[in-house]
Amino acid sequence: MAHKTDIEIAREAQKKPIQQIGDGLGIPSEHLLPFGHDKAKVSAEFIAGLNGRENGKLILVTAINPTPAGEGKTTTTVGLGDGLNAIGKKAAICIREASLGPCFGMKGGAAGGGYAQVVPMEEMNLHFTGDFHAITSAHNLLSAMIDNHIYWGNALEIDQRRVVWRRVMDMNDRALRDVVTSLGGVANGFPRQAGFDITVASEVMAILCLATDLEDLQKRLGDIIVAYRRDKTPIYCRDLKADGAMTVLLQQAMQPNLVQTLENNPAFVHGGPFANIAHGCNSVVATTTALKLADYVVTEAGFGADLGAEKFMNIKCRKAGLAPSCVVVVATVRAMKMNGGVAKADLGQENVEAVEAGCANLGRHIGNVKSFGVPVVVAINHFISDTDAEVQAVKDYVETQGSEAILCKHWAKGSEGIKELATRVAEIADADVSNFAPLYRDDLPLFEKIETIAKRIYRADEVLADKKIRDQLREWEAAGYGDLPICMAKTQYSFSTDPNLRGAPTGHSVPVREVRLSAGAGFIVVICGEIMTMPGLPRVPSAEQIMLNEAGQIEGLF
Ligand code: ADP
Ligand code: MG
Repeated sequence: MAHKTDIEIAREAQKKPIQQIGDGLGIPSEHLLPFGHDKAKVSAEFIAGLNGRENGKLILVTAINPTPAGEGKTTTTVGLGDGLNAIGKKAAICIREASLGPCFGMKGGAAGGGYAQVVPMEEMNLHFTGDFHAITSAHNLLSAMIDNHIYWGNALEIDQRRVVWRRVMDMNDRALRDVVTSLGGVANGFPRQAGFDITVASEVMAILCLATDLEDLQKRLGDIIVAYRRDKTPIYCRDLKADGAMTVLLQQAMQPNLVQTLENNPAFVHGGPFANIAHGCNSVVATTTALKLADYVVTEAGFGADLGAEKFMNIKCRKAGLAPSCVVVVATVRAMKMNGGVAKADLGQENVEAVEAGCANLGRHIGNVKSFGVPVVVAINHFISDTDAEVQAVKDYVETQGSEAILCKHWAKGSEGIKELATRVAEIADADVSNFAPLYRDDLPLFEKIETIAKRIYRADEVLADKKIRDQLREWEAAGYGDLPICMAKTQYSFSTDPNLRGAPTGHSVPVREVRLSAGAGFIVVICGEIMTMPGLPRVPSAEQIMLNEAGQIEGLF
């Protein structure tokens, strides 16, 4: 049976005017700032007025460690939002915006899939409302002001060898990872080695996603460390007086975007920080706004639960004062099979033993999420090749973990296929059984925070770090940064730092290669293994398939 592609399904959407979607949430039309007919920003003024209102229930969608088989977190987030609305609940969805880099590199959009999608998916995956362009501009304004400051005499005594602020663009372009700037003579300044990251890896992106309002945004931008002097004292964005103009560039981008699902339910799509060197979830402003306007808010964290959910809880929830009422862990039979040792090419064949063998990965994620004091339910995202026996094997296993797994067919059927999960999630959220607490205290020494994550979440035996790294952490503690949470950057494919170690490994070590202070975003990035801040395009980029057809419609975007 030939299935329609995501874009074909999206094109058939019966969209409502965005004012109607805003109406459903009680947003007056003067506070809905439309971008065309199907996208709008919610005004900062309206958001500021929501303060006194009660919050709805927050539901996090996370997953097992990703495999090349695909898990469908966004698809399940969108499906569950539709499912909750279908059973009569007032629910909204909060997801991230898309980066152009992966869009033209590897196939796979950010709007969900099948009959659980957010529309307009083409625009959401392209320029959307221009937020990422604004972030790129704000970031690069600061870059330009650094070199300009050096050019005009360098009164701040920036050590040109110690400029840590790079440039960004929203494209996968490995040619720009390391470059020399200011070539061409005296009029072009002082040549120095520099480089580009992808926009979603910018600290400005992380800041936009964690800031509570424009004032907080400007303060955090000012706190960014851009360079060091010869005596290693830091130079801040504020010292260059760039924070005001950057805030101006970001004023519109700070307002969350409202769109709709295929079933005309509200979806806030806002922000998109990298899930490795940043925390990987949509903006705090969008989530807190949605919680004021809906009774249930379904949101997603990037990568597997060991990275995504951990950072969602320890960074976003801690800092924004949020607490999830229920966590949904997405698993697929295919991914269980891959964890159980089956090759991607053989996933189509029934293999109950491999499913059973691969379930250990799921089990550990369930236990980890529960350790935050939150109730867990497993969503089995159904693929048409799954057999009843395989699905039953996952359900039986999850029961042995003191949890429950529910089969979901939202990809094929929309809300109709996920009502059972929606009903159960609403019950759990309404029961108020969540007793959320972050994993470590603010005042725990930084190295012990890293150890806590490594031992309790990754189940490693030890954290390996040079004296240089431990000294650096102590210096930051002395400088007043000891209260910051940790942002782990490691492979998403394994609990360990070895991407090939599937399942539920124990007895491994977590080597820390580097630590970075994101003083504006407010976390310390701990890099374990290779970390990419400017991806490259694959041998055959999906850009080769993307084009306009004769009707002027976009083809090849997923
Ligand atoms: P994630 O958020 O975990 O990265 P997505 O929800 O974006 O994953 O899904 C990735 C891709 O997998 C999408 O193209 C989507 O259409 C596809 N997909 C998701 N669920 C299913 C399913 N049940 N059957 C077939 N394809 C699916
Ligand atoms: Mg996703």
